[in-house]
Amino acid sequence: MSRIDLSKELNKNFLQALENIDANCSVALSSLHKAGVLSWALPSSYQGLEISTRDMVDLSYLLGRTSPSLFSSYTANLLGITALSRFANERLKKEVFENYLRNKTIFAFCMTEKNVGFDVASTTTLARQTADGFYLNGQKDYITNISIAEHLIVFAKTIDSQGAELGVSAFYVPRRSHLSKNTPDSISVMNEYEKLGQNHSNTAGVSFSEVWIPTENLLGNLGDGLKILSICVSRTKTLIGAAAVGAADIAVDYACKHLEKRIIKGKPLIKKPDIASCLSEISIQIEAAWLLTKQASETWDREGIAVKDSSMAKYFAAKMAVRTVSDCLELCGAEGYLETHPIASLYRASSELSIISPLIS
Ligand SMILES: Cc1cc2nc3c(=O)[nH]c(=O)nc-3n(C[C@H](O)[C@H](O)[C@H](O)COP(=O)(O)OP(=O)(O)OC[C@H]3O[C@@H](n4cnc5c(N)ncnc54)[C@H](O)[C@@H]3O)c2cc1C
Repeated sequence: MSRIDLSKELNKNFLQALENIDANCSVALSSLHKAGVLSWALPSSYQGLEISTRDMVDLSYLLGRTSPSLFSSYTANLLGITALSRFANERLKKEVFENYLRNKTIFAFCMTEKNVGFDVASTTTLARQTADGFYLNGQKDYITNISIAEHLIVFAKTIDSQGAELGVSAFYVPRRSHLSKNTPDSISVMNEYEKLGQNHSNTAGVSFSEVWIPTENLLGNLGDGLKILSICVSRTKTLIGAAAVGAADIAVDYACKHLEKRIIKGKPLIKKPDIASCLSEISIQIEAAWLLTKQASETWDREGIAVKDSSMAKYFAAKMAVRTVSDCLELCGAEGYLETHPIASLYRASSELSIISPLIS
């Protein structure tokens, strides 16, 4: 079943880039960058196409079908672009997006902390305000792309010189931030994780020690962090919904392929009424997830935020995908349980979809 209605040209470039996907996401991301795909979301004033969230849904669907690892890397990068496009001043946007296009660099989005999870209001990372900027101290964890990223969006509790709290703020932090104020590089990547699945994408922790951030790198106003997070994450949740539908669709394709070729008493298994009814039930669930996802993307495109719609789409689609991939693995029989079968890695990769970006934000 085709879900794609991207213009043919966009679709062709994207599919060409996907053909070059290597096992390693940094290579695949660079392939997407070279094909121009990672610039499509940029504002038109920075050579981007400013594609809609609805179009991103189609890209995410394709990535969910092809490589959930690459989907994670793609969305982490997109979160950074969204934060910068919407909340940075013009000078910062110009500087960063020119670098992004020229050097084919990558973004990471640093929100989660080990003992804080998604509850960013309780962040323990601190940005201490001075006359012309901030000093950043703390640690973030489980950050996608962090080992390869040049551009970091970091959420931190801002405090004044006396330690009084000024709310959670969002900052743009260049990886080589020491270049901006003669201090040693005090950003270090730690704990590169081996995960249950999606091991082609990079996930690790990062620590900041007295990292200097000039005032112009503050996104929005002081204390706008949670608002910025909510807007960026509501788009990403929508895309997770789309990737979940992609993963579920490809799992059904694997199952159908197996059930068509497995002949029992002269009939393919796919013709057995209980199997056909199981596949119908799965199709209804996938279709419902797709409709919720499309609805969320249209809300974001219309209103610039879609907290409720994207949360519903992500919640429903991610749970549906985890269940569907597991059911389809079962329908592939013992063959599906073999490491060599593509549904085995899809099974491990898809479980991540329901953990990231929880329901309530
Ligand atoms: C592969 C991978 C890549 C990731 N990439 C990034 C990244 O690029 N940037 C980043 O900042 N973080 C990233 N994360 C972290 C991810 O956002 C967190 O795992 C998630 O927010 C949950 O936090 P936690 O793991 O600490 O779970 P916990 O806070 O311990 O939560 C436990 C469970 O409760 C659920 N839960 C937590 N809070 C709520 C809530 N308010 N409402 C409903 N359910 C809730 C969680 O979804 C989880 O299932 C990544 C995680 C993974 C696994």
